[in-house]
Amino acid sequence: MGMIFKSIGGEPKDIAAATLEEFRRGIRGKVVDPKASTYDDARVIWNATIDRRPALIVKCEEAADVLRCVQFARDNGLLVAVRGGGHHIAGNAICDEGMVIDLSPMRSVNVDPQTSQARVGPGATLADVDAATAPYGLAVPTGINSTTGIAGLTLGGGFGWITRKYGLTVDSLVAADVVTAEGKMLRASSTENADLFWALRGGGGNFGIVTSFEFKLRAVGQQVLSGLVVHSLDGADALLKQYSALLERSPDELTCWAVLRDAPPLPFLPTEWHGRKVLVLAMCYVGDLAEGERATAAIRGLGAPIADVVGPNPFAGWQTAFDPLLTPGARNYWKTRDFAELSDGAISAVVEAARAAPGPECEIFIFHIGGAATRVPVSSTAFPQRNAHFGMNVHSRWRDQSADEQHIEWARRAFEATAPFASGTAYVNFMPGDEEERVQGAYGENYARLMEIKRRYDPKNLFRLNHNIVP
Ligand SMILES: Cc1cc2nc3c(=O)[nH]c(=O)nc-3n(C[C@H](O)[C@H](O)[C@H](O)COP(=O)(O)OP(=O)(O)OC[C@H]3O[C@@H](n4cnc5c(N)ncnc54)[C@H](O)[C@@H]3O)c2cc1C
Repeated sequence: MGMIFKSIGGEPKDIAAATLEEFRRGIRGKVVDPKASTYDDARVIWNATIDRRPALIVKCEEAADVLRCVQFARDNGLLVAVRGGGHHIAGNAICDEGMVIDLSPMRSVNVDPQTSQARVGPGATLADVDAATAPYGLAVPTGINSTTGIAGLTLGGGFGWITRKYGLTVDSLVAADVVTAEGKMLRASSTENADLFWALRGGGGNFGIVTSFEFKLRAVGQQVLSGLVVHSLDGADALLKQYSALLERSPDELTCWAVLRDAPPLPFLPTEWHGRKVLVLAMCYVGDLAEGERATAAIRGLGAPIADVVGPNPFAGWQTAFDPLLTPGARNYWKTRDFAELSDGAISAVVEAARAAPGPECEIFIFHIGGAATRVPVSSTAFPQRNAHFGMNVHSRWRDQSADEQHIEWARRAFEATAPFASGTAYVNFMPGDEEERVQGAYGENYARLMEIKRRYDPKNLFRLNHNIVP
């Protein structure tokens, strides 16, 4: 029996059994259809609000599998979704009735300490990358949640604890192997298909499927000074104003994010604080530990903290610090904004929104970027928001579907309240799936060039399930 797929234009497309069988035989990985016992597991991604039923999920084992999938989808006009780590909040890694090209089995990481470079498969998580690079005291600058996929994170830009020192993830990308919409394998670097290389560094999954990333590795040593300082949310307004002023002058080695939420039952917090509203300052100093003590002293000296657990930690260990709060399986709706500076107005709006959070897992993150990331010209890569020193994520997170409306509404209100203080750009990797109208603004001055390159590499928009740059 054949199978009905959704075509790229949305109409049903009947694929004959013999055609499908021939395709299956050419794939080294597993091909999972709705009848397979593994189907329901294979269609689960990080955000539990996404519940889609693809016609076929192809778990690729090698670049040749990806090439075959793209050729098959192109020849038959099928709707295609591309999955790396499955973390994107928008859920474009999974589609209804189309083909999912699932790269998650391709998670090898090969480190060459001689050249300080690593070759990374598109299914690797940040934890996979850190585990392979840590023994050498090296790292790729990535994000703060180790279960995130390196592929989607890199293609959107990528930032975390060492971005201020070493730049964005894309600033460490040296080359990538890419399967294009035409069904060809190309290498992209500063000297090969340089336009494609430019677009991959921030333009998301619009331009082809990356089957291998090559990164320059950065020195982090064996330990970083890192940890949390926890305050009551009462007084957070004044404290965050001091935080903002201090961080305007902080060295690139120091990064300090703020999280406003209900206190989780962390073992180092007095039990009477569990479940009460807190402001958490999460910091990391990459460099000499004694220098780190000096650089963090002022920020750790603010106010009267409930707890201060800043100390030396292995870098790869610190990369997992937020994992327990960001586990897969919860329902999530996020909103994001960039700020050129963290103004008093923005702070007051954020604190007020945090007080109104509807549930114990809801939180607002203020991320601290700037540093080396801002010293790369906007035109050098597709990533457009080089001027953002801070950003805000409203993470609405809950368990019960009946609470969807209340939680989505809170995120939207917090987002609106901070509008007057924001810079206008946004990080595509944090944007939910209902913000098509923001995509052009998010890419700012790089949008026109992205569109031109999209026309060159994917004129029929095969790779459309993403924050889409329409050719
Ligand atoms: C809990 C959590 C914490 C996060 N923290 C950070 C952070 O600290 N810093 C940060 O920068 N970001 C962070 N992010 C955002 C993250 O960068 C994006 O969600 C990113 O898309 C995740 O990549 P993925 O491969 O896991 O996602 P997926 O959902 O698998 O992929 C996202 C999209 O990328 C495209 N794609 C994926 N793989 C490929 C490929 N190989 N070739 C072409 N296109 C591809 C597809 O269009 C796909 O829809 C976080 C997200 C979450 C949910």
